[in-house]
Amino acid sequence: MNDSIHEFQKNLAQLNITLSDKQIDQFITYYELLIEWNSFMNLTAITDFDQVIQKHFLDSLSLVKAYDLSKECKMIDIGTGAGFPGIPLKIAFPHLDITLLDSLNKRINFLNEVKNKLALANLDTLHGRAEDFAKPGKLREKYDLCVSRAVANLSTLSELCLPYVKVGGKFISYKSEKIKEESIEAKHAIQILGGEVEGQIEFTFTKEQLYRNLFIIKKINPTPKKYPRKAGLPGREPL
Ligand code: SAM
Repeated sequence: MNDSIHEFQKNLAQLNITLSDKQIDQFITYYELLIEWNSFMNLTAITDFDQVIQKHFLDSLSLVKAYDLSKECKMIDIGTGAGFPGIPLKIAFPHLDITLLDSLNKRINFLNEVKNKLALANLDTLHGRAEDFAKPGKLREKYDLCVSRAVANLSTLSELCLPYVKVGGKFISYKSEKIKEESIEAKHAIQILGGEVEGQIEFTFTKEQLYRNLFIIKKINPTPKKYPRKAGLPGREPL
């Protein structure tokens, strides 16, 4: 475990992130809870400590390449699952105000346990569909930043995520090599939902040279009231 932690810190230094002993302990406790709960529910296929550090923790934290996380920020993680990227971001940047949203209640129960065990303040967990909480009067246009990893193609995801972002805020999607095709297909959706592509940051990281593309969309106009459409439609019939 010590070697993995040492490697973790080396990789964090490349991201200009320094963690205290308390924060390292929080990551270890998070890992232990993930493995414990994963034995009776489906949270992650990756269970080796070193792999979790690389593929979940460091990948989540790589957001620093695309967004200045040193300032106050109200952020929502759509389809957070076992807490990625939201929990690693909350541990490393405790001043962030983060909402974790997922449609599977079992995962929300897990996240509540993580929140309590790690004593994480300013962290909300929400059980429900992204389509439903984005309705006017709920969480619509309340966030500076919306993030999402491994939930849907960019077109579907834009409809799920952009409604949460304030005009002037950003939606950043953790994407794979498929981003080229996805971004072409999502062009129309992004525009009608009030977004504009700001850019993308592409890199490989850790000794395994894992690929990541952080695709950045700026919200330039309010999202028209009819979006998101009713639950399920953004996935079945992307705009
Ligand atoms: N973001 C996590 C990660 O990168 O490990 C989890 C990815 S998992 C493949 C996708 C998650 O998105 C699942 O936990 C699922 O329940 C959630 N999800 C899918 N569609 C959703 C929706 N419309 N609203 C809320 N959550 C959704």
